[in-house]
Amino acid sequence: MPKDESKPEVSKNDHRAIGEQLDLFSFHEVAPGTAFWHGKGMIIFRELEKLIREELDQAGYEEISTPIMVKKQVFEKSGHWKYYRENMFYFDPFDHAQGKSSKETYALKPMNCPESTYVFNSKIRSYKDLPLRLSEIGRLHRNELSGVLGGLFRARQFTMDDAHIYLRPDQIQDEVSSLLKLVTKVYAIFGFKPIFYLSTMPEKAMGDKKDWERAETSLQMALKENRMKYELKEKDGAFYGPKIDIEIKDSLGRSWQLATIQLDLVMLPEQFGLAYIDEKGQKQKPMVIHRAVYGSFERFIGILLEHFEGALPLWLSPVQAAVLPLSEKFAKYAGEILKELRHAGIRAEVSDSNETLGKRIREAEVKKIPYVIVVGEKEESGGFVNVRKRGSKDNLEVKLAELIANLKKEIESKKL
Ligand SMILES: [Zn+2]
Repeated sequence: MPKDESKPEVSKNDHRAIGEQLDLFSFHEVAPGTAFWHGKGMIIFRELEKLIREELDQAGYEEISTPIMVKKQVFEKSGHWKYYRENMFYFDPFDHAQGKSSKETYALKPMNCPESTYVFNSKIRSYKDLPLRLSEIGRLHRNELSGVLGGLFRARQFTMDDAHIYLRPDQIQDEVSSLLKLVTKVYAIFGFKPIFYLSTMPEKAMGDKKDWERAETSLQMALKENRMKYELKEKDGAFYGPKIDIEIKDSLGRSWQLATIQLDLVMLPEQFGLAYIDEKGQKQKPMVIHRAVYGSFERFIGILLEHFEGALPLWLSPVQAAVLPLSEKFAKYAGEILKELRHAGIRAEVSDSNETLGKRIREAEVKKIPYVIVVGEKEESGGFVNVRKRGSKDNLEVKLAELIANLKKEIESKKL
């Protein structure tokens, strides 16, 4: 949640209002705290998924997908059933053989970690297999109080760009160092500068003190190696390992915690009996890094919408160009242009309602469409288009091929 919610800009620029204005998503009483994503909203979702997948493929991750619904025993093992049950959705499904409700309780996963260990444990792992980076774009459910739900910022169903990295203690520094680079690179695309916080061993810590010391030093070294300034939060780590929290500031000056690089020295390794075989053929316990870059896609999209006040960069814009025929007479030419734009991979729409051109231009502005293309007699006979960029007062006359080439370049560069 934003640290300073009292700022008046927030209400004027609420992501729920922008979502409606841009036709991205809606909320309905039948599913409190869960967004219904419209076609245009899904485009933002897909672009963000694409970006992170490209990065993770290069970084040697394996993408997995684990069940949304599993038997409660998974969470009994992880401790969620004991400590987190009120925040979970669970039920007893109908047992067809018994003709009544089953005694086997199922739960919707509130996090991906426990199930990721089943993939790790599905075969014997050697020290050579580590680090094993299992990423998952996982859909999670948490039974948040209806009073605290807040659009995309706090939802009952959300999607995480999660990963669990299984590794040896001597691999922590290198792995965390690449994670810091990854986070910095991805945030820079949105104009966010990360701020790092290192949290160390709390009073009530579990695990070996030596492991803690080694882990903390590795995190520190990784930050130093990348010349990243950080603040120390002493004794603020989780009971199972130290962590690096990563915050950003948005265009309204609000701080948001997005990513966390959480080291897990004991919890998953012990609860789920994780092991690998070392060089000497001995069984060893790996460590685990829990990490996310965006955190929740839903929340991240909410932050982006407010940060950009709805005017998303071209590559993220659901509609990248609107084609406006001057009148009905030019609908066919507008249709041809639309076809060419779409063939070139540019998301375009024709706005050919009976409204005046002025009104249609204003409508495109309200929808924050980056490029508005007007076509009439002059353009059709000359074989060019008249284009105006969002926020600019100038119109340019260009050949369609040239416009397409420029737009593709801008999309490719992910320019802000
Ligand atoms: Zn996790």
